[in-house]
Amino acid sequence: MPDTINEWAEKVLAGNRRAVARAISAVENGDAAAVALLKRVFPSSGRAQVVGITGSPGVGKSTLVEKLAADYRRSGLRVGIIAVDPTSPFSGGAILGDRIRMQSLSGDDGVYIRSMATRGQLGGLAPTTQDVVTMLDAAGCDVVLIETVGVGQDEVEVARLADTTVLLLVPGMGDDVQTFKAGVMEIADLYVINKADRGGAERVEQEVTAMLSLAARPDGWRPPIVKTVATSGEGIAALRQALEQFRAFGEKDGLKQQRRREHWRARLLELLRQTLFKKVAGELLRHGLLDSHVEEVLAQRRDPHSLVEEMVAEFASPGRKRKSPKR
Ligand code: GDP
Repeated sequence: MPDTINEWAEKVLAGNRRAVARAISAVENGDAAAVALLKRVFPSSGRAQVVGITGSPGVGKSTLVEKLAADYRRSGLRVGIIAVDPTSPFSGGAILGDRIRMQSLSGDDGVYIRSMATRGQLGGLAPTTQDVVTMLDAAGCDVVLIETVGVGQDEVEVARLADTTVLLLVPGMGDDVQTFKAGVMEIADLYVINKADRGGAERVEQEVTAMLSLAARPDGWRPPIVKTVATSGEGIAALRQALEQFRAFGEKDGLKQQRRREHWRARLLELLRQTLFKKVAGELLRHGLLDSHVEEVLAQRRDPHSLVEEMVAEFASPGRKRKSPKR
């Protein structure tokens, strides 16, 4: 007999890997059970430190995340890893630990790995990722690492879920520093110059330092720059130290709370928007109203603004016909 939602939730809260994997798949597939489950486990979430790791393809994100996770494990911490992969096919239902490149972690019961494709997410990537974070958090992960390719609005949105955002750069990408400036650069709390075994790390460091000196952050944090060689693990300890410093800074100054507050405000508004839209649109489609409205607009008989105002008014208080406001 399949688990009831309560049984399933208990297993997720106990960190049962199969239950967590099924819960994440349910989230990805937009199953109604996922919402019921999220409601149940939410009160037990909010404890994990969420770290976003972003950067162009090939800069060494996966290699670094694997090393960082192994380092956390050595301290006895439980780690969740969400690899947002723009190239991988929709991975709903995949088994935890499906990332070949992170094989060294796959036999470890204290590591939960899930890759997610950027396409095919119902309701957008950021909300889905948020719900996956909630599951991992409730399952007892102390740290959740979200790995994203630092391009596109979707990825910037995902980065905003994190308490801390780390941007990976590599030597020989001078132009990219310029490109990044517009988006991810601004939201990075920490810079990592990976592949420091290659020449040119100092030059990138200078560029980032120069860029950072242009404007001080309003919160007073000065993003550190850490050099790493992800393949050998060099600099991982320094990275953890920098992460810890930022965490302490965020907790002391209320920055973390402020970020989470902004995040949840945006998430609540988005959920409200989606839910209301689904309800209104559902009604309209059910009664074939939308099609008749389209015809009216097409024939210039009605204007779209008045029609939408009427539809919303009708939804807010059904049966009460309102005149469209005169202009
Ligand atoms: P991702 O696409 O950002 O996740 O990058 P990967 O972690 O897959 O790394 C891309 C390639 O760079 C792989 O062949 C890695 O072995 C290599 N790599 C990662 N970190 C380093 C590093 O610090 N030094 C060198 N030389 N190669 C690295």
